[in-house]
Amino acid sequence: KKWVYLFSEGNASMRELLGGKGANLAEMTGLGLPVPQGFTITTEACTQYYEDGREINDEIRGQINEYIGKMEEITGKKFGDSENPLLVSVRSGARASMPGMMDTILNLGLNETVVNVIAEKSGNPRWAWDCYRRFIQMYSDVVMEVGKKYFEELIDEMKAKKGVTYDVELTADDLKELASQFKAEYKEKIGSDFPDDPKEQLMGAIKAVFRSWDNPRANVYRRDNDIPYSWGTAVNVQSMAFGNMGDDCGTGVAFTRDPATGEKKLMGEFLINAQGEDVVAGVRTPMPIAKMEEEFPEAYAQFVEVCKTLENHYRDMQDMEFTVENKKLYMLQTRNGKRTAQAALKIACDLVDEGMRTEEEAVAMIDPRNLDTLLHPQFDAAALKAATPLGKGLGASPGAACGKVVFTADDAVEWAERGEKVVLVRLETSPEDITGMKSAQGILTVRGGMTSHAAVVARGMGECCVSGCGDIVMDEANKKFTLGGKEFHEGDWISIDGSTGNIYDGQILTVDAKIAGEFGRIMAWADKYRTMKVRTNADTPEDAKKARELGAEGIGLCRTEHMFFGEGRIDAFREMICAETEEEREKALAKILPYQQSDFEALYEALEGNPVTIRFLDPPLHEFVPTDEEDIKKLADAQGKTVEQIKAIIDSLHEFNPMMGHRGCRLAVTYPEIAKMQTSAVIRAAINVKKAHPEWNVVPEIMIPLVGDVKELKYVKKFVVETADAEIAAAGSDLKYEVGTMIEIPRAALTADEIAKEADFFCFGTNDLTQMTYGFSRDDAGKFLNAYYDAKIFENDPFAKLDQVGVGKLMKMAIDLGKPVNPNLHVGICGEHGGDPSSVEFCNSIGLNYVSCSPFRVPIARLAAAQAAI
Ligand code: PEP
Ligand code: MG
Repeated sequence: KKWVYLFSEGNASMRELLGGKGANLAEMTGLGLPVPQGFTITTEACTQYYEDGREINDEIRGQINEYIGKMEEITGKKFGDSENPLLVSVRSGARASMPGMMDTILNLGLNETVVNVIAEKSGNPRWAWDCYRRFIQMYSDVVMEVGKKYFEELIDEMKAKKGVTYDVELTADDLKELASQFKAEYKEKIGSDFPDDPKEQLMGAIKAVFRSWDNPRANVYRRDNDIPYSWGTAVNVQSMAFGNMGDDCGTGVAFTRDPATGEKKLMGEFLINAQGEDVVAGVRTPMPIAKMEEEFPEAYAQFVEVCKTLENHYRDMQDMEFTVENKKLYMLQTRNGKRTAQAALKIACDLVDEGMRTEEEAVAMIDPRNLDTLLHPQFDAAALKAATPLGKGLGASPGAACGKVVFTADDAVEWAERGEKVVLVRLETSPEDITGMKSAQGILTVRGGMTSHAAVVARGMGECCVSGCGDIVMDEANKKFTLGGKEFHEGDWISIDGSTGNIYDGQILTVDAKIAGEFGRIMAWADKYRTMKVRTNADTPEDAKKARELGAEGIGLCRTEHMFFGEGRIDAFREMICAETEEEREKALAKILPYQQSDFEALYEALEGNPVTIRFLDPPLHEFVPTDEEDIKKLADAQGKTVEQIKAIIDSLHEFNPMMGHRGCRLAVTYPEIAKMQTSAVIRAAINVKKAHPEWNVVPEIMIPLVGDVKELKYVKKFVVETADAEIAAAGSDLKYEVGTMIEIPRAALTADEIAKEADFFCFGTNDLTQMTYGFSRDDAGKFLNAYYDAKIFENDPFAKLDQVGVGKLMKMAIDLGKPVNPNLHVGICGEHGGDPSSVEFCNSIGLNYVSCSPFRVPIARLAAAQAAI
């Protein structure tokens, strides 16, 4: 088997095997661009490494050694050579890019001999020794996992001894001395000498990159970005180009379009006399790319041409890394650039207008999950105008964030867990901060440019980020900073604007977002190409209106019990729950009926004749019973009972397993009067709205929850139909209505052929269906899911991303059994999965008529449905 490919042996279509970086290095090589040559070890070799118990087997080792030979031939340099030594970088590169999540090793191939050779040849011993000490440091940290801090301490000691402040003030001799101290440190921590043999160094580095596929931050990133663990990473071994050899060298990162706004202009950053990681790490704030033109006019002109070539070739915005060594340009990487949701929409539309992409391709280019950020609140324009910024950084990832200041990623997680909104303020972020960044509303950093880790990761997460605000005087140790004359402490409110980079004191009002402009264009294209409908889960007219604005074509689930959460309504509901006799219950129901009817009327009004599915009561009753004394007293008074009597009733309602207890259609079976009341409310509301708007097609869809046996449905349906027909006859109306059921109990899916005889429609309640199929509680799974992720039993939360293998099989079975029995049966989904893109795709593939999701996810589902159809 072939485990290793020269760059000249691959191309862009080999992404699965070579990873994104490797495939693109190969493609650039094929295009004749200036790429330092090397080879890629395949993703399959990574998978094999894990299969072999985290070892690189002999066959793969053999091929790597063979390819080192080929690389030496191509470059004319040799590992460990005393004439022309080969130095390489070793970088990860998965199929999907995972910026900053895995490991990189630079300057590999150095040892005492080689460092002297390059010192002499370059005439720049300081540079040579700096490379060597960096390499020892990086290798020790990344490959051998000796903590960085020991080396940093040694650097600090050296600087103190020499009486200097900055690393750059250390001389060649100082760095040489440091290198030997580093090696001694290595020997003390590891117990053997630092490896001198470049081939040994290389095997160690390759192993480390494979291993980093499984590091905690990569695992979190993959889960968030739907990247399967099974993919593995490729490893790229590339001849080094040096950006840090002197002032005619440099390194940069650039985008062919603005990754924050999508505007068509070359954007990027450049550092003179630096190595690639210095830009990405955000340690030094770099200069804008345009400045490069002044320093290196020829390399710049060539780079601009390369950008054009690459963009036209890939027909997408490119994100490139490059190095200038002695004024000569080298391309180190290109990829389709990560971008904000806003930029993604603009770029997709522009590419269509420029004739580079079709509408379908434009729709396919947008990651539906990113739309989320556009749907969330922005700062209110008036409030923003009135506010004076305290300072300004780079608008690195747009959005509005308002929260309390915290200083560490751990604090961000902890505060967010107890429900606080926080803004994470850091000198700079490192990949270890990712979970904290996720928990925060926004991120504010003192150092780092548009391409720093914080900026890239925030954009990927769709989270507001302001980076590189150098005016902040930070005191991390004491958890405070000053900006614009104000001292901020942990817990103080701050607002940041990720579009303008402005930073404000206190809280600023936010408003809801709108679908317009490019967003509107893309959504219109999505609607043109999708075949599946998108409905919403809405319980109130406000939610329904919001969802309509966002493009919902109906209500797929109205959870009627949620209509009682409001003040004043809960009382009658509690009276109903705690009723002991049918009379008592009827009395409470009579109070509830008008509420329900007017709510339903408002829903029908809001939906303007589009379908509305109303689900009958499905509350775990204990969620609604009063718990504090005052409420219990109030209920007792209303019922004419003593507090003790009410407490006894509440006790009797206690269930050991409420999720599998007295809920769903079981309530309707025990208390038919509840379902009768709901039927009357639905039908009366529909008749009224139909009267007022004869042009609308009002056809109520009544949905019976938690059915497991067709007899349950038959039993409940009988009095629903009797009640509905009586209401319709009394009103002299010709209203049509449907009665359907949720499929959310495995037995219902297994016997869907029987159930379909009684149901006008099925709607998959995949929350319960997942719970009952796996047999673990949707409320308690959070306790052990993390252990499941760690153990690689699960890659995702099955309550967020549909388990297509198991739960999905039940869904497919239900459709296959149900449709032949009832050809008019329409089928949807209303569990949380209805708004998850990969689950939406699955729903499309098994022939669902619609998905239903929460209002803010409606545009996501519309786009995902289009992508599934394209
Ligand atoms: C479901 O079970 O998937 C569902 C939509 O109903 P609920 O979440 O209300 O149980
Ligand atoms: Mg349910």
